[in-house]
Amino acid sequence: MSDDCLFCKILKGEIPSTKVYEDEKVYAFKDINPLAKEHYLFIHRSHTANVNEMSDESPEQIAEVYSGISKFTKENGLVDSGYRVVTNIGKHGCQTVFHTHFHVLGGEQLKGFGS
Ligand code: AMP
Ligand code: ZN
Repeated sequence: MSDDCLFCKILKGEIPSTKVYEDEKVYAFKDINPLAKEHYLFIHRSHTANVNEMSDESPEQIAEVYSGISKFTKENGLVDSGYRVVTNIGKHGCQTVFHTHFHVLGGEQLKGFGS
């Protein structure tokens, strides 16, 4: 946990969120500014700043988050229509919250890269 981290505050219940999935290791909630009909954020309960830090320090956490995404998207039907997983890193990636998170976008036809 990091005291001044927005998503750690969400994990602690200090900031409200709309939960869509949780397990022992992973928490997921609706993005407050959805960029698709369905837009969720999947986070690990342990704080890391970005996916590279997660990969270097605790690579098993990547599998734990993706396991949550797999279970959730199977349970709510997203996997049938398809969806996109995005994780932004740093300034050029437009990362604004420095607790590793994976955007899950779907519920409608997304634009392809380059279109
Ligand atoms: P990124 O720009 O990749 O760091 O993504 C951060 C995401 O967090 C953005 O899509 C925001 O809309 C979202 N966000 C910021 N604050 C909240 C909040 N309190 N609850 C839910 N989503 C949030
Ligand atoms: Zn955090």
